[in-house]
Amino acid sequence: MTNTLHTNKNQSAYTKALFFETYEECRKDFLILTKKVKKKFPESRIEKITFSKVEDPIDSFFFQPKKKRSNRLILITSGIHGVEGFTGSAVQRLFLQEILSGNFAKGCDYFFLHGINTFGFKNRKRVNENNIDLNRNFFFKKEKIPKKERNLGYRRFASFFTPKFPFTFLPLEFAIFFLRFLGIMLRIGITNFSNAFVRGQYEYKEGLYFGGKRPETVVKRLKRNFKDQCKGYKSILHLDLHTGHGEANDVVLIQNADLGSKEDQFISQVTNGQSLLKPGSGGAFYKTAGDFTDLLSKILPNDKEIIPLTVEIGTTGNTKFLQAVWTSFLIVAENRIRHYGSWFQKNRYAIEEKFFRYFYPDSEFWRYTILMKTRDMMHEIIRQFCEFPSK
Ligand SMILES: [Zn+2]
Repeated sequence: MTNTLHTNKNQSAYTKALFFETYEECRKDFLILTKKVKKKFPESRIEKITFSKVEDPIDSFFFQPKKKRSNRLILITSGIHGVEGFTGSAVQRLFLQEILSGNFAKGCDYFFLHGINTFGFKNRKRVNENNIDLNRNFFFKKEKIPKKERNLGYRRFASFFTPKFPFTFLPLEFAIFFLRFLGIMLRIGITNFSNAFVRGQYEYKEGLYFGGKRPETVVKRLKRNFKDQCKGYKSILHLDLHTGHGEANDVVLIQNADLGSKEDQFISQVTNGQSLLKPGSGGAFYKTAGDFTDLLSKILPNDKEIIPLTVEIGTTGNTKFLQAVWTSFLIVAENRIRHYGSWFQKNRYAIEEKFFRYFYPDSEFWRYTILMKTRDMMHEIIRQFCEFPSK
């Protein structure tokens, strides 16, 4: 009994010190911790990436534990989907605390990017100030989006994904949505539906998962920054933190790199014993277009060993049928209200709050559980990365 109480107390202290309700608090704590680490490890660097006159810059921290640079670099990034930054930031700050207490792998250098989509983080949105899903915006070679990335499934059901009129009564809207969802699902099946819904689309600028018409300024800045940051490193592990997708309270790794590619082989060498979803593994899992984790392989020289992974932290679950309907409803309704308004303010607030809590639950059990799982998973990947054969 005493033991349980003790643990609960610890849990509560733990989550309260890391999970905040505003972007400003997360940012402040990130800066305080990075200053402390820099004091202890003076080779480290605190920097800002400015990309707009209006939006806040992205805070970054390069941590070098030894006098001499390592040939391995670990990138830990958060908040490319703004609202998911609250949890990503908590995980990053837990890492910084562990660095301060000496609990980290010393054979690597580390680069933290905190809250990439600063607008979305501040305003509890997935998208940025231009309704762009930055995780679908990493196209480089051509200014125009390649033809094969045109999402015909989205086009077919565009009126379902983006109804172009104000939101009415929540129960009525949900009932209509449920029936249409069911109808589409029966016609095209779950895989085609997921593909149409979340893969990304480049035609409807007020639609869902809109990848933009050209790279955003922040994407161009990141590209330049990463090129500089990665100079001199042989092996680079990229862990990009997300929330929302997957089973409740579960953490999985998602690989976007094609099967049989060099990255695919490297990934299997550092993810032994971890749950890893590969493209084409079926069900609701999909390969996204213009993914952030594809960035490094596109911009760095061929001789580097790049290991790009998405760390996806499940919240209340979206894999079972009813969960999938409900979370799709929230995503469609939030976007619709942002563009076309709502008859009643009360409904607007209700949708915004439910949307926020879907990506960032306030349950202490969830926060503690996923924090521990994510930390353990990342430590294990980093441990394998340190032993990764670098020829
Ligand atoms: Zn995400």
